Amino acid sequence: MKIVIHGLLFDEVAAAVRELGAPAFRAKQLWHWLYVQRAAAWDAMKNLPADLRQKLAEKFELEAVRQLEITGVEGETRKILAGLRDGECVEEVLLPSGDRRTVCISSQVGCKFACAFCASGQAGFRRNLSAGEIVGEVLLAAAAWNDRPGNLVFMGVGEPLDNYDEVLRAIRILNHAEGLAIGARRMTLSTCGVIPGIQRLANEGLQIELSVSLHAPDDATRAQLMPVNRRYPLAEVLAVCRAYAEKTKRLITFEYTLVRGVNDSAAQAGELVRLLAPLPARVNLIPLSPVEGYAGEPSAPETARQFIRALERAGLNATLRDSQGSRLKAACGQLRIRHL
Ligand code: SF4
Repeated sequence: MKIVIHGLLFDEVAAAVRELGAPAFRAKQLWHWLYVQRAAAWDAMKNLPADLRQKLAEKFELEAVRQLEITGVEGETRKILAGLRDGECVEEVLLPSGDRRTVCISSQVGCKFACAFCASGQAGFRRNLSAGEIVGEVLLAAAAWNDRPGNLVFMGVGEPLDNYDEVLRAIRILNHAEGLAIGARRMTLSTCGVIPGIQRLANEGLQIELSVSLHAPDDATRAQLMPVNRRYPLAEVLAVCRAYAEKTKRLITFEYTLVRGVNDSAAQAGELVRLLAPLPARVNLIPLSPVEGYAGEPSAPETARQFIRALERAGLNATLRDSQGSRLKAACGQLRIRHL
């Protein structure tokens, strides 16, 4: 298969253009076509000489990701099922809000981590996405909006820190000031708590927001919901989050899905407050949405309200996600599963 052009950093595009015998300024023109004009065909790149366009077409793939299906209506939350060259597919979600356009993208085809209430985890792992495919997801969103997204969240299918190198490469391509120019501060990476990845990310010199799925304030409950806790226990995850916040000067968001009788008691709210007190933290409480294969039930609305009040009384910044948001998260991966 040809090399995916969208997986190359700017310097690599420049080197490729040089190798094809073209002068250096052609690299800037090409980059502009890729990320500002977002050209869908080599022939559309009118200010590049025809022989360079032909050489590029012979060597590089321009369309690594194709839209197979789009749900919903313009102006509202929509999902795209994105097809890959080997027949696999992933999901992404377009989240418009006023002038703000956020795209939620996948980082892997499937996931190894098997969190209890996640459809993607239940369907198993197939492979990592390449940087070119990750960038391709963002370009599909830009095509659907006819404009670039200003915000990016790695919260779709997969654990981004389990595909570290390709995710970071994609971030650097998407962040390039003369391309899509999505600011690092406008990117959020959601993780189940992969400690070595958080440590590496802290040292990249990027102020990416980290969102960590916590879901329980003790190891036993967390391990029941998230098997990854056996490898990366709670105290160690929180210590590394603290170091991340100190280094990047960013708040950390902790995701906490409320499950009736499992993690929603007053004592657990108190324990969560104790754990997060030393951190610059924000808590995102999520009402559980039903997922096939998981028997847990959402907390009663009054229990959820008491839980959030306990956090707020202790001075924690906490929000209770609306049901639309939680439905969306729970359904993450289900479009792909239906397609398969
Ligand atoms: S919640 Fe994230 S890490 Fe857990 S199984 Fe689903 S995709 Fe994987």
